[in-house]
Amino acid sequence: MESINPATGQRLDSYETHDADDIDTALGTAQSAFVDWRSQSMAHRQTLLEKTAQLLEERVDEYAELMTHEMGKPIEQARAEVRKCAWVCEYYAETAAEQLQDELIESDSDARTLVSYDPLGPILAIMPWNFPFWQAFRFIAPNLAAGNVGLLKHASNVPGCALAIEEVLQDAGMPEGVFQTLLISSSEVDDIISDDRVAGVTLTGSEGAGRAVGQRAGQQLKPSVLELGGSDPFVVLDDAPIEATAKRGAFARLQNTGQSCIAAKRFIVHDAIYDDFVEAFVDEVEALTVGDPTDEDTDIGPMARPDLRDDLDDQIDRTLEAGAELLTGGEAVDGEGAYYQPTVLTEVPRDSAAATEETFGPVASVIRVSDETEAIDVANDTDFGLGASVWTSDLDRGEVFARQFEAGLCFVNELVKSDPRLPFGGVKNSGYGRELSRHGIREFVNAKTIWVQ
Ligand code: NDP
Repeated sequence: MESINPATGQRLDSYETHDADDIDTALGTAQSAFVDWRSQSMAHRQTLLEKTAQLLEERVDEYAELMTHEMGKPIEQARAEVRKCAWVCEYYAETAAEQLQDELIESDSDARTLVSYDPLGPILAIMPWNFPFWQAFRFIAPNLAAGNVGLLKHASNVPGCALAIEEVLQDAGMPEGVFQTLLISSSEVDDIISDDRVAGVTLTGSEGAGRAVGQRAGQQLKPSVLELGGSDPFVVLDDAPIEATAKRGAFARLQNTGQSCIAAKRFIVHDAIYDDFVEAFVDEVEALTVGDPTDEDTDIGPMARPDLRDDLDDQIDRTLEAGAELLTGGEAVDGEGAYYQPTVLTEVPRDSAAATEETFGPVASVIRVSDETEAIDVANDTDFGLGASVWTSDLDRGEVFARQFEAGLCFVNELVKSDPRLPFGGVKNSGYGRELSRHGIREFVNAKTIWVQ
């Protein structure tokens, strides 16, 4: 397995992959580690998560640089990602005991009835490269707190990050086998899901990967959580403050070089302010600095891999052929690295590639609508249902509108973002299940009814 710096195309490192024997050993280690880990006190598990948070804070620069080199994330955003991982560890260190305490439920007057939340066992996590630390930690923190143990199959282009995650958990004192990284290809995942020693599987990634993993988990009758793609609408109503909304919109679309499942992808703009908004939005997009991701001033780095850049270029070409207009960008950047110009497409047809597929890179699609009814109709006219936002000066109007979104995360006057305190996940082809908050920690537990008479 190789790490290739997407900013330069140069090979950074290569890693020995794990073979069938290694996988078998890892599963055995996970199984025995679980027996001990589940019987440890919650307080002990929480202490180790606190220690993990502390180490992440101490190593912010080291891990941020690793991410920046391996998948091209601008360095300042990489540091923020490591800090957010520390936050999610702290959050569950503080809240897991309360979230998983026995729940007393009144039933017959002469019975004591309650629900206890027991861990399930080794959970396989299949994770993507776009937030290589965060996606893994939002699985790790709640699951290790709950008493499960983790096996990580990370994306093949971020093996360095995958091993660093294992390292920080080991350094924090997690017992052997509580968390292990497997450097394997996706073709080996089916057998692992089918293995009796694995109790469940979670995947963050594309719809195709989600279907494959969900199918196998279903066949094996194992619980699964799927956090898949999105094509989030960003609805600008006629009373939205134009400059401020355009600024937030550019950030919502282009942070992490546009490679985020919850990035705003379809800008649905009321006709009354369409021209003014588009002008302000293009100004904001053009003001962002594209460049070397190790540079502190860079807003937009390279895409994570050249093939992903080429796929995006193809989507843009197909959208232009369908009748969209190109206001800025629209080309790969010449020279080394997987760079793509920040791009704004307007008058995007509702059935074109950019309106119907997930665009995973720095391209915004603007769609004109004539009223609120059409706006919600276009917003929900997608196979995805992850996040959605609406922008307006009237908070009541915004909330009424937001409740009509067919999505898991609905925001008024704020960009869609993940927060350890709130559930995260989608509907429709964006997947099922929830991560984070008390909902996330209860995904891979046995909600056990106990009746004492
Ligand atoms: P993938 O969905 O292919 O990769 C995500 C993870 O799933 C990786 O660990 C990958 O392993 C693994 N995987 C892929 N196929 C399977 C499978 N059949 N069975 C089990 N595991 C599998 O994403 P890509 O990197 O190929 O990106 C393609 C597109 O996916 C993007 O353009 C974007 O649209 C979407 N995507 C969405 C993400 C999100 O957060 N919603 C994150 C990443 C991508 P390996 O790397 O070894 O193939």
